[in-house]
Amino acid sequence: MKVIDRKDEMRSWSRSVRAEGKRIGFVPTMGALHEGHLSLVRKSLEDNDCTVVSIYVNPTQFGPGEDLERYPRDLEGDIAKLGELGVDCVFTPCDEEMYPAGFVTYVVQERLTEVLCGASRPGHFRGVLTIVLKLFNVVEPDNAYFGRKDYQQSVIVKRMVKDLDLPVRIHVMPVVREADGLAMSSRNAYLSPEERALAPCLYKALLRGREMIRNGCTDVDAVEEAMKKMLESQPGVRVDYVNVVHPETLQRVEQAVPPVVIAGAVYIGAARLIDNVVVEG
Ligand code: AMP
Repeated sequence: MKVIDRKDEMRSWSRSVRAEGKRIGFVPTMGALHEGHLSLVRKSLEDNDCTVVSIYVNPTQFGPGEDLERYPRDLEGDIAKLGELGVDCVFTPCDEEMYPAGFVTYVVQERLTEVLCGASRPGHFRGVLTIVLKLFNVVEPDNAYFGRKDYQQSVIVKRMVKDLDLPVRIHVMPVVREADGLAMSSRNAYLSPEERALAPCLYKALLRGREMIRNGCTDVDAVEEAMKKMLESQPGVRVDYVNVVHPETLQRVEQAVPPVVIAGAVYIGAARLIDNVVVEG
């Protein structure tokens, strides 16, 4: 497995592979890899001749006071996991490589980035879209794989690809969960054992909302209130948002009629956890 930390080397590797007529799959990550990440990698290995995984904790998607410095890092362990799976290339650039001195150009997307996580993390999606576009430009993949765990991210990336005519196909894969329902996340490492025991409450609340909608409740306020109440009844849990939204526009729907997505974010201790469920039409 090749480990590359320079953009020019990454691009020439990709180009030489493509010159052989091979299709490239790409999985962008921030590392501290878990089964959620690895599910994307396995899918890429299945679909493509070559798979590139990037590991880069992107500073521009963290706000002031967020967890950039303490974000979990385990480059050696990550590389071992990817090697075992049969990944062809790992791209591990440094900040100077991705954001050289004088960097001032960003991707800003309207509307879709202003709701849900975008409302509580201003600038977050500007950082996400900027790094994803840069990585696409360096790796030049045919296919790229994202998790539905970050539902809003998957929607805005697909929108950017469409709006900017990027020559890559986006694939969105299901949420991988722990046995008790908690969505796997590198940030789960922040949870103390007591907080970890509480953490499945977010998924449970989302399932409750989905059940209400499936049972015919169309009152969005009632569904959101019920989920909020469930979460707020747990000491140590602070709700950021729980919203019933349109699957593509991400705007809050007027009536909870499927297809809709229920997305939520909560603070538990030092962790901000997000999750979502789709209510199919
Ligand atoms: P991250 O390292 O958190 O930036 O995540 C890299 C990619 O892995 C993103 O596309 C995430 O949506 C995806 N991912 C993270 N956790 C999960 C999970 N539990 N299930 C599926 N995909 C995930």
